[in-house]
Amino acid sequence: MRGWTLGSGSSGNALLIESGAHRLLVDCGFGPRALATRLKAIGVAPESISGLLITHEHVDHAQGAERAQHKWRWPVYASAGTLAALPGVTARWRRPLVAGTPLTIDGFTLEAVSIPHDAAGPFGYAITATASGARVAVAHDLGAVPDALRRAFTQCDVLCLEANHDVEMLRNGPYPWHLQQRIRGGRGHLSNAQGGALAAELAGPSLRAVVLLHLSETNNTPALAERDVTAALRRTKYRGPVTAAPRRVPAPAFALDGARMAEARRSEQLTLGV
Ligand SMILES: [Zn+2]
Ligand SMILES: [Zn+2]
Repeated sequence: MRGWTLGSGSSGNALLIESGAHRLLVDCGFGPRALATRLKAIGVAPESISGLLITHEHVDHAQGAERAQHKWRWPVYASAGTLAALPGVTARWRRPLVAGTPLTIDGFTLEAVSIPHDAAGPFGYAITATASGARVAVAHDLGAVPDALRRAFTQCDVLCLEANHDVEMLRNGPYPWHLQQRIRGGRGHLSNAQGGALAAELAGPSLRAVVLLHLSETNNTPALAERDVTAALRRTKYRGPVTAAPRRVPAPAFALDGARMAEARRSEQLTLGV
């Protein structure tokens, strides 16, 4: 299983996940032309993607979703609320997901969790590769961490979590008070400290990579986010990579050896007696 971020933050989000011949795009915050250019940069043809998973309808996550769906005839997986906010998605390609009810598609099993954010029906996702059993969690644009997310995101191989802002930079930065309040609020965005605390809480023996998403350009830096989350993870046994996704350019996010992951998971299950 491998993953690439094609962009991350308020200028546009997309994450490509690949397991064997199967490819899934998480969010489509770019128009079809920009998306195709970014996919080409990582050697992926849009036609080879078998589905689009949307976290929520905000433009930085879904502005290209309807046009890309038409162009490449992708099925679109999202909450009923998110799909309702994307009326241009063709009826027969709509695939509503229900929180807590896993759906198995070609190559992956999708598990949705409701997250608090100022959108119609925002979801975080745990995505499990059918072939290797490798499990990737994706959650950004959330103002607080619900217990359902904690339960769904255990035993992951990869955590892709939001580290939106440094609390001091936000407080001392140029954003007006009401906007600061919205970002900090329970339906806003996770700070580096909150992202780090969540990563530390979720870090289990199978964890191989931590990817930080949706960094603010004004109120954060990649170095600060990586430093704070790494510091939080020092309280755990995890010593693997902690990488902030670049804002504007495609970049490899993680790469897992499928066979090794399946093996690690089996021994972990034996240890845990499940
Ligand atoms: Zn966003
Ligand atoms: Zn949002």
